[in-house]
Amino acid sequence: GPAAPRYKRVLLKISGEALMGDRAYGLDPDMVSQVANEIKSVWDLGGEVCVVIGGGNIFRGVSAAASGMERATADYMGMLATVMNALAMQSGLESIGVPTRVLSALPISAVAEPYIRRRAMRHMEKRRVVVFAAGTGNPFFTTDTAAALRASEMGCDAMLKATKVDGVYDADPALAKDAVRYDHLTYMDVLSRDLRVMDASAISLARENGIPILVFSIQNVGAFADVIRGRGTFTIIS
Ligand code: UDP
Repeated sequence: GPAAPRYKRVLLKISGEALMGDRAYGLDPDMVSQVANEIKSVWDLGGEVCVVIGGGNIFRGVSAAASGMERATADYMGMLATVMNALAMQSGLESIGVPTRVLSALPISAVAEPYIRRRAMRHMEKRRVVVFAAGTGNPFFTTDTAAALRASEMGCDAMLKATKVDGVYDADPALAKDAVRYDHLTYMDVLSRDLRVMDASAISLARENGIPILVFSIQNVGAFADVIRGRGTFTIIS
């Protein structure tokens, strides 16, 4: 039969750009449903899944659109963008029968539950997918750091970083044809070689809490379920 998941409780970090598909901006409904299906595959295996979604497809605090604006204000706009993506993901998941709750680090009570750690734990125990919106709720942070923070708080067995390529390479595989993918890296490798998988604060937090980071491609259908069973290609940072 199918191999059992190596990780029972996992956090998926997906960037806003990954939900954009081939578009230049915003959400591609086909990508949202593809990601929802990936999550459902893991959930069907008995996995407890939580998700942190970025907002870069809609707004980035450090973007040109934010120039002249106070950084904190621009960052709050970026956090609100993640809420929109979280609602789209909830809708995509519920349409295929996966019970989902959105918990927002910024209180927007008409739209989402506030983030309360013990409530999030309870949802996960009840096998609901939890989507964490609004990052950490603080300006000057990123959703990568939010992902490491929530994975630590939820006691996740692993953090999965969904990207466009199937792991971490020694050069950009889109540009260098002979780029080599690493099977394993240490947290210190990523930090000292500035490998830009996730930002340094996210890597440090994962390291302090001993949470492995698995970098894989969300473009390969079935990859999320494969990776948590140790199959397919990915890079593990531990
Ligand atoms: N952001 C923030 N605090 C957080 C998380 C996000 O201020 O804890 C803002 C920040 O402006 C960021 C934007 O939200 O540029 C979108 O998040 P991110 O860039 O991490 O999204 P991704 O690159 O994953 O799509």
